[in-house]
Amino acid sequence: MEHAATCERAKNQGKLADPTNARFSGAGRNVIADQHLHLERGPYSPDNYPVSWLEQYLEKAKEAGVQRLGVVEHAYRFVEARGLLPGAWSAERCLYRIDPYVAFAERVKARHLPVSFGLEMDFISGQEESIGRFLSIYPWDFVLGSVHFVDGVGVDLELDRPNAVSMGHERLWRRYFELSREAVRSGLFDVLTHPDLPKIFGQPAPDFAQAEYERTATALAEADMALECNTAGLRKPVGEIYPVPAYLAAAQAAGVPVSLGSDAHEPENVGRNFADAIALLRSVQYGSAVHFVGRCRISSPL
Ligand SMILES: [Zn+2]
Ligand SMILES: [Zn+2]
Repeated sequence: MEHAATCERAKNQGKLADPTNARFSGAGRNVIADQHLHLERGPYSPDNYPVSWLEQYLEKAKEAGVQRLGVVEHAYRFVEARGLLPGAWSAERCLYRIDPYVAFAERVKARHLPVSFGLEMDFISGQEESIGRFLSIYPWDFVLGSVHFVDGVGVDLELDRPNAVSMGHERLWRRYFELSREAVRSGLFDVLTHPDLPKIFGQPAPDFAQAEYERTATALAEADMALECNTAGLRKPVGEIYPVPAYLAAAQAAGVPVSLGSDAHEPENVGRNFADAIALLRSVQYGSAVHFVGRCRISSPL
């Protein structure tokens, strides 16, 4: 796996910050990490990310009992990702150059704040090579792999709901699982995010989903990739954590590591509902969660 090689290289070159170093809070104790945060609604110009905005996230993290953050801007915001995603919705949003985000990551790292930087990258079947090129712009700490689009339909987009309906409930879900496994096998990502996203508007997965959870869990284990437990679903019409307990249980049984994410787009949602997520993870026998530094996975007890 390319990730493992990168991780080994970082270790060999001594470039990997020691996660037990006191600079990273959590030394000698459990690290609860929120590995899915977006800064994009901040009061910044796209060419100048203020550290003060991130400090508001760190402040909220402290209140929420979260010791480490993982920032992942949406890849579709960047001009360098133009053409990777389908549809007018995406095309309208590729507005900002990635350099200021990279410069921001460097500034924050120089201050030794407990923050990892990455991207939330859409998986689009057939675009693997271009996605790989885009991701290689910067040595990210981690990359989240997200299936938001199924055959051109944005499954979490209100404006695409009529298209999702005409695709048919069962077909949408079946394709979602197929594309999830393609994303996993692409070797491009560290984590599969919000893995049962099509339930977002309140329609539960069809009966055949159990077999799909197990198949996807096996693919994740084979790819040595993590699954995300994402609390944003609690703030959506479905009112549930992603994914359902049965999906997490299948992943746990297959030995798949899990990461925690709030998918916060503003400071007040950092670590939101993590007590519920941790209780859910423990209920399916997860005893630890992971976070990432330099594409290396670091496990902490829950
Ligand atoms: Zn997402
Ligand atoms: Zn997100």
